[in-house]
Amino acid sequence: MGGRAPLWLFGDQLGRHFHATPENRGRDVLLIESEAALARRPFHRQKLHLVLSAMRHLAGELGDRATLVRARTYREGLARFGRPVVVHEPGSHAAERLVADLIEEGLVEAELPTPGFIRSKRDFAAWADGRRRLVMEDFYRDQRRRFTVLVEPDGDPVGGTWNLDRDNREPPPHRAALGVPRAYRPREDDVDRGVRDDLDRLLRARRIGPVGVDGPRLFAATHDEAWRALRRFLTTRLASFGPHQDAMLAGDWAMSHALLSAPLNLGLLDPLAVVREAEARLRSGEAPLNSVEGFVRQILGWREWIWHLYWYLGPSYLDRNALDAHTPLPDWWRRLDPSRVSARCLRTALAGVRDRAYAHHIQRLMVLGNFALQRGFAPRALTEWFATAFVDGHPWVMPANVIGMSQYADGGVVATKPYAAGGAYINTMSDYCRDCRYDPRVRLGPDACPFTAGYWAWLDRNATRLTGNRRMARPLSGLRRLADREAVVEQERHRRRY
Ligand SMILES: Cc1cc2nc3c(=O)[nH]c(=O)nc-3n(C[C@H](O)[C@H](O)[C@H](O)COP(=O)(O)OP(=O)(O)OC[C@H]3O[C@@H](n4cnc5c(N)ncnc54)[C@H](O)[C@@H]3O)c2cc1C
Ligand code: SF4
Repeated sequence: MGGRAPLWLFGDQLGRHFHATPENRGRDVLLIESEAALARRPFHRQKLHLVLSAMRHLAGELGDRATLVRARTYREGLARFGRPVVVHEPGSHAAERLVADLIEEGLVEAELPTPGFIRSKRDFAAWADGRRRLVMEDFYRDQRRRFTVLVEPDGDPVGGTWNLDRDNREPPPHRAALGVPRAYRPREDDVDRGVRDDLDRLLRARRIGPVGVDGPRLFAATHDEAWRALRRFLTTRLASFGPHQDAMLAGDWAMSHALLSAPLNLGLLDPLAVVREAEARLRSGEAPLNSVEGFVRQILGWREWIWHLYWYLGPSYLDRNALDAHTPLPDWWRRLDPSRVSARCLRTALAGVRDRAYAHHIQRLMVLGNFALQRGFAPRALTEWFATAFVDGHPWVMPANVIGMSQYADGGVVATKPYAAGGAYINTMSDYCRDCRYDPRVRLGPDACPFTAGYWAWLDRNATRLTGNRRMARPLSGLRRLADREAVVEQERHRRRY
């Protein structure tokens, strides 16, 4: 046994930048599988699998250095372990409160800063305090300068511009799939078989109630797998990441996306190392600037931004409901059952969540989130759904993405205008509408697209609330000119099938 206090790692702190740092070298490692944490919510089956698999793989890799305790709760696990531990800052307000209590109780000796994100909370607060408005683009540029990523020696951005988003909004090609090499797929092993058996047992005993279907593990669960997945993405898919970032194809669930959010959020990949690797592909000429900048923006910009807003805006942010939305999530949505859904875009995205616990960003924002916004789903319940049904869902990642970006429930703190769109947008950016029973151009009658008609009905419902938003002036003026406005609103009020 080492002389220093052991390091307790939560299930999202599993990488070498947590346990193999000079600070933690020589510490024993404690991992706790808490049954209460697994059973607390209806997590996706594949998400439960991934987390358990990752923890058990790490325990195996660390050998004698690690102790894996299976307990009802974290507190019970710590008590059973019997030695005070240190722990890195956890990823939720609830876990932060727990750690504070455990420090009081003497079960935890100290809380260390987290290496899971590039910028510290204190640094972020220093940047954010006193700003009139928190804008991701400002933060992102500051990150680029501070960590000298894609900047010239004089501090200017490489290529002369900070943001190449305008090069990254191409519609999908007229093909069934993007045609890029397949993403990395891990191979399951005995650890996975053990996890599957244990989850089956818990399920039979009704001690967990997961959603979604079981399936082969799709995402990296170890350091080596995560690096293999990263390298494969950088070598074979990064070059095409940029242009089709916002596109959707019914026959291509992954497109050129990295599929790295799960290993990143499990703490298996050091985000700054990921950014540096991507930058190196620009220098080596393997990927163009628009793709590299687009990807760097996701990790160094968006991911960090979302993490810091979670802490900066505090727990009360979760209760924001600026559009006064209270519709309960329908049963078919909660149970990930696309069988009753005819809208091809929605059916495809929901089936993807059921089958893989994953949907790519534009499906999350412009199909699932857009639908929830239009139908007035209660933002807090929706947040809970995203956090549990997705393989990469964690408490910190939800509020700014769901409450802010996707539902505009914060009234414009995160997004300057709601991400609401009708069928025309989905039709331009995907191939869904081609084989859909609805018509994206139609807003009234049996063929009326639920997104097109839903958009106008949503705008009608929220017209007064959105009047002060300059970016909504044009849509609101379009609404005023809509000849069949009342009929569309009435139709959508009674719509029960989508
Ligand atoms: C409604 C909604 C819910 C979301 N829920 C989650 C979630 O539960 N977990 C999650 O990690 N991301 C979430 N996102 C952000 C984003 O959609 C996912 O990170 C991305 O789809 C993951 O797939 P990928 O690894 O293939 O990402 P890529 O598209 O290849 O992007 C690369 C990486 O950038 C990071 N990233 C990009 N945008 C964001 C963002 N807005 N927030 C956080 N990280 C970002 C991720 O780590 C991602 O792996 C959500 C977005 C929306 C609009
Ligand atoms: S027509 Fe409407 S419902 Fe059908 S796929 Fe297009 S946007 Fe979705």
